[in-house]
Amino acid sequence: MFQKARIKLTAWYLLIIMFISISFSLVIFQLINTEVTRFAQSQHIRNQLRSPVFPPPPIDTDLLNEIRRRITNSLLFLNGSIFVISGGLSYFLAGKTLRPIKDMVEEQNQFVSDSSHEIRTPLTSLKSAFEVNLRDPDLNIKQARNLISESIVEVNKLQSLSDQLLLLAQYQKPNNYIKFENVFLKKTILQSVSQVKPLAKIKNIQLKVKVHDYKINANPHNLKELFTILLDNAIKYTPNNKVVQIETRKTDRSILIIVKDQGIGIDKKDLPHIFDRFYRADSARSKQGKNGFGLGLSIAQKIVRQHRGDIKVESVPQKGSIFTVHLPLK
Ligand code: ADP
Repeated sequence: MFQKARIKLTAWYLLIIMFISISFSLVIFQLINTEVTRFAQSQHIRNQLRSPVFPPPPIDTDLLNEIRRRITNSLLFLNGSIFVISGGLSYFLAGKTLRPIKDMVEEQNQFVSDSSHEIRTPLTSLKSAFEVNLRDPDLNIKQARNLISESIVEVNKLQSLSDQLLLLAQYQKPNNYIKFENVFLKKTILQSVSQVKPLAKIKNIQLKVKVHDYKINANPHNLKELFTILLDNAIKYTPNNKVVQIETRKTDRSILIIVKDQGIGIDKKDLPHIFDRFYRADSARSKQGKNGFGLGLSIAQKIVRQHRGDIKVESVPQKGSIFTVHLPLK
């Protein structure tokens, strides 16, 4: 599909270049032809004036035709060369023009196939549970109720997956769709903290907040989402009765937001992948059940990139993790 589009675009580029080149060649030919004819005529008149008694030889039309033929050949050669060179260049440029579109379409296709795969697995298990129970002639009300409540849990997970997918799609938008404004960091962080407080309370995790009120240019809604994801993960992957901390620092060029936990940590082999879509480290899978889809950090990274910042992680298994977000001041 892209090869076809590339060839079409090349043809369009070439058509435009050749139209311009041929038009210029025609104009050049006309100009030179007029000038040469005028020169020959004026030469003839000058010779007539110089010796009025002996008539000068007539205008050499053969010579004029030879000149016209040579100009035509040179222009044909020039246009042929332009055609070949610009053909190659157009093909190269068409490839360059289509590259970002190609990447975007590939990314979208991957997104759709990953998402379908994630949705398909719980749907299949729901379907088979329904089918098995439907076929059971001895199914009683109690068992049916159990099935319904288990199914509701699964449906809730599916709902949260679709919410996260929508969120991810939303953060995939290019930067110019996002409204940036002056944001007081402390207020945004406190909003995120209050959002994760109930979860921390359930696990008796102490939330330490050491933040300063820096003002930055950002999108407050997206920033809040970012801090909530990091804090939510920190709490989710930290055992009961421990501490999760969020703090801010300022350097010459950026503001740092640091989220520290005393949790299960991340294995070295998983570290390069945790920002990939749908990636879940084995430790997270086995220890925390199936309450995550591996989308949180992917969304977090997209938000950080929207703000032209970057996000880093340091982690020691069984000791804890430190996520550091750098947001540029300008
Ligand atoms: P999930 O919904 O599974 O938490 P994320 O994208 O937020 O998805 O995280 C990806 C993976 O990174 C998680 O499955 C987990 O293995 C690991 N991870 C993220 N944050 C932490 C953390 N604070 N401590 C330990 N592991 C983490």
